[in-house]
Amino acid sequence: QVALEKVLSRRSLQLQNEQQAWQDSSEGWRMIQLRLSLPAYKERDAILNAISHNQVVIISGETGCGKTTQIPQFILESEIDALRGATCSIICTQPRRISAMSVSERIATERGEKLGETVGYKVRLEGIKGRDTRLLFCTTGILLRRLLVDRNLKGVTHVIVDEIHERGMNEDFLLIVLKELLPRRPDLRLVLMSATLDADLFSSYFGGVPLVQIPGFTHPVRTYFLEDVLEKTGYRLTAENQIDDYGQDRAWKSNKQFIKKRKSQIASAVEEALGSADFKNYSQQTRESMFCWNPDCMGFNFIEFLLCKICENEKPGSVLVFMTGWDDISALKDKLQAHYLLGDTGRVLLLACHGSMASSEQRLIFEKPEGGVRKIVLATNLAETSITIDDVVYVIDCGKAKETSYDALNNTPCLLPSWISKVSAKQRRGRAGRVQPGECYHLYPRCVYDAFADYQLPEILRTPLQSLCLQIKSLKLGSISEFLSKALQSPELLAVQNAIEYLKTIGALDESENLTVLGRYLTMLPMEPKLGKMLILGAILNCLNPILTVAAGLSVRDPFLAPLDKKDLAEAAKAQYSRDYSDHLALVRAYEGWKVAEYELTGYEYCWKNFLSAQSMKAIDSLRKEFQSLLLETGLIDNNIATYNTWSYDENLIRAVICYGLYPGICSVVHNEKSFSLKTMEDGKVHLHSNSVNARDSKIPYPWLVFNEKIKVNSIFLRDSTAVSDSVLLLFGGTILKGDIVSSFPPYVYALYESIRCDNFYPFSYAWAGLGCIL
Ligand code: ADP
Ligand code: MG
Repeated sequence: QVALEKVLSRRSLQLQNEQQAWQDSSEGWRMIQLRLSLPAYKERDAILNAISHNQVVIISGETGCGKTTQIPQFILESEIDALRGATCSIICTQPRRISAMSVSERIATERGEKLGETVGYKVRLEGIKGRDTRLLFCTTGILLRRLLVDRNLKGVTHVIVDEIHERGMNEDFLLIVLKELLPRRPDLRLVLMSATLDADLFSSYFGGVPLVQIPGFTHPVRTYFLEDVLEKTGYRLTAENQIDDYGQDRAWKSNKQFIKKRKSQIASAVEEALGSADFKNYSQQTRESMFCWNPDCMGFNFIEFLLCKICENEKPGSVLVFMTGWDDISALKDKLQAHYLLGDTGRVLLLACHGSMASSEQRLIFEKPEGGVRKIVLATNLAETSITIDDVVYVIDCGKAKETSYDALNNTPCLLPSWISKVSAKQRRGRAGRVQPGECYHLYPRCVYDAFADYQLPEILRTPLQSLCLQIKSLKLGSISEFLSKALQSPELLAVQNAIEYLKTIGALDESENLTVLGRYLTMLPMEPKLGKMLILGAILNCLNPILTVAAGLSVRDPFLAPLDKKDLAEAAKAQYSRDYSDHLALVRAYEGWKVAEYELTGYEYCWKNFLSAQSMKAIDSLRKEFQSLLLETGLIDNNIATYNTWSYDENLIRAVICYGLYPGICSVVHNEKSFSLKTMEDGKVHLHSNSVNARDSKIPYPWLVFNEKIKVNSIFLRDSTAVSDSVLLLFGGTILKGDIVSSFPPYVYALYESIRCDNFYPFSYAWAGLGCIL
């Protein structure tokens, strides 16, 4: 023990000396000056003092004041000074992998080290960390997974949870777990950090803990709402200007009838919205629907115009554009690159900032361009709080963000662009005033802003809880509903019950809510359980490739385009991929065709000819890779991929695996004389979406359809579906088939069902038993 202590204190001294040497170098001196200038530095002593006297401390301060990069370093340095540096272990969680990576790299640079020395990071499938790493940045998900095997966080001295104001599902979940852990680990310190925050809520959740506020400073930001922007720029918001907008492929624009209809919609919406005095009195829903003419409030054309105006007329300074999602960012980037001024790399540096960018691209975002070049960054809400670009002077805010929402009553999830909250709008605005007075252009009228919610609803209250419930079970946290009742804000009981019921139906939980073997595997795959299920069985039954495509396809925007004016042509194009009553198999074929074309460098032409979205195809391609690495990570497959594809061309097998994943999304096909009708157990009569390949035939020679999603517009429509036989549904459709479904099987199938039930055998029990041995 004594010898060990000696070694450790020698190591701590060494750390101290190394830092001193770095600080004495000229680059180190420059970094120190930068760090000293951050507002967080002024509160250094107060922060450290609070942490040493309290188990839990909340720290809040304006974005960019130095919370993420400085506070973990303060703790690290004070531990090193106290010669405990070699024994401390600080974990700091970030909601996104990109921030965990970029922040750790930044801190290593500030300390004159390489990543993996004192500072490291760990995100899913990647990480750099060494023997001496004392400060580890990771995603919240990684810490939750560590808790799975290390319930007491042995050896960890400090946990810092960053960006708690975002109220992500994982963060809320982690807080419940940590709150329970604190009494068991009285020496553990917990620091919660946030930009704008409902401090009382967090403080009282932990029983009235102290709050350290870092006073911030931002330069004034001049704010323009849509009406002011129009006045300032002299832009005429006419229908013609707005046609070329989001989501609409330019090729379809030529259709006159379509344009005419859009024109009148747009014109009346704009007129009503901006001209009418009582617009303020309309309900929020009406206001929102008025802006439906463009999913993101304003078209690309307007953003392009505004960027030009800024580049031509305004003082130097970078521009930050907040967009809804990655698809829109890349589409706008393409458009801008073709513009004579904005595409000129000698004058403009055009960058995209999103969750999966390469680190070389990341560095460019922070760098100040030289020689009068103006930097324009197109970003998602990632740049709202977790990434700070210092030289931004102009902000353009589209007002929307993609948000998962969940309707507990209809039990349907959706990922849709929705209006941001007032707090988010303020954050976005604040990004413009970091270095000098700035300007912010909100591309929506003030009255729409007035109707924004103050705060965004926490994720736990607006998303399906299936994955969360699985995690609660895998962490052995007891009864799901009891555990969730301890959350900062608990989700609706109905939502919890739906999730548990679903997990039981798909066989991930048993009747007494314990994880099954399948359930345990699903907890290791961070994706919707139905996708995980499909992938697991696809790997077991050696038809992995097509199933990877189907699972990826279910997670991106539909790649089959259906432009209004070329509907027939588009349908014919889709029909060439479908011969077997399955939208999912049609997608598999389309993807495979694209892959070949892409290999021959004709991917775009292929998409163009076949009415496919090249963007979705690329997204599917990269998701497939991600899914495959996840399967590798869990040990479900090894690197010998060919062996998992020996049955990849057996369409009936693929159909069965799809059924296994999508169950209980099933509907029965009832044939009558000329056509057929469809029924589900919960809704009664339903319809097929007109884009489905199954909507074109008057007969489907199968008794069942499995589907991924229903949407409700007047009546209920099924989007993509795959036809399956009785026996496939029986063998692959979950473990418990409900009574009325079973009774509608033909007698021979019913007999089979009975015999299976009596033998207490259920499909793949051998396979699952095999998996059980691995675990
Ligand atoms: P907060 O967490 O309070 O929002 P940060 O600690 O992230 O603030 O940032 C503090 C400062 O460090 C900001 O001025 C930011 O621009 C700068 N910074 C952060 N990361 C980098 C980086 N990778 N490169 C250059 N500057 C950075
Ligand atoms: Mg931060």
